[in-house]
Amino acid sequence: MGKPTLGNPQNTIEILQKYQFSFQKKFGQNFLIDTHVLDKIIRAADISKDDMVLEIGPGIGTMTQYLAEAAGRVIAVEIDKNLIPILLDTLGGYDNVRILNEDVLKLDIRKLVSEENEGKPVKVVANLPYYITTPIIMGLFENQVPVESITVMVQKEVADRMQTGPGSKDYGALSLAVQYYASAYIVANVPPNCFMPRPKVGSAVIRLTRHEKPPVEVRDEKLMFDIIRSSFNQRRKTLVNGLNNSDRLDFPKEIIVKGIECLGKGERVRGETLSLEDFARLSNFLSDSRFQACN
Ligand code: SAM
Repeated sequence: MGKPTLGNPQNTIEILQKYQFSFQKKFGQNFLIDTHVLDKIIRAADISKDDMVLEIGPGIGTMTQYLAEAAGRVIAVEIDKNLIPILLDTLGGYDNVRILNEDVLKLDIRKLVSEENEGKPVKVVANLPYYITTPIIMGLFENQVPVESITVMVQKEVADRMQTGPGSKDYGALSLAVQYYASAYIVANVPPNCFMPRPKVGSAVIRLTRHEKPPVEVRDEKLMFDIIRSSFNQRRKTLVNGLNNSDRLDFPKEIIVKGIECLGKGERVRGETLSLEDFARLSNFLSDSRFQACN
């Protein structure tokens, strides 16, 4: 073990040249080249030697070196096979890092964490590939992966979407999932010149700390998120039509109307005006209606 050797432009360029690496746009490859930003991420992630960290997309291993210094163990999942020999080189000095050449969206992370960390919660830390930020975050939450916190670099606009409420055009399934599962705060805004190559958008580091108990009581989480997705999939439709036409749901229209009335809302209401509490109540109403129908 030693001090991280990466994190500045010169050393990054040296490694890229040594391996004649060419960036793949389709994998959202924008590597961090700013040690101050790396320090901020590590500090916000609050890692100790008792922690196992899951890193998604280690790239050439820049942040992985910092994580390996701070954590007990690091599992780094990288899709690009051309980066694996580089990672074996840059992380060769660390015996607490495991590199997996996998697509994170196809990986059973819940199983991986159970096996590697005896089911104890892990901390996720990553400079995420922006093209799949939402499925990664939703997947971690909805697949019940034991996660204590998620400290990630995302597109600035997505960080805003995670923190917004009803009435905003950015409000959607991601905002509601973040509210339901975690508390969120923006650690830092990060300009394009902290990356190589420079992304076209601004970035932000956000920390999501998982709630011990969600802020609302929901009897069937999957149903609530099916309702939420159906409401936002058809933004221009009324909530009644959105839910009635959804492939995910099979409630009679009159039950849907009744559920919405119970929220004190009219038939013309749109999904984007409902709060997390409203969605929880509607979901509990619809879930109970199933039960009543069987009795
Ligand atoms: N962590 C590095 C850094 O900060 O310099 C690289 C971050 S870069 C924004 C995103 C990384 O995620 C790339 O290395 C890319 O190849 C990898 N990646 C993209 N899609 C992936 C996927 N589906 N599964 C795992 N890794 C992926």
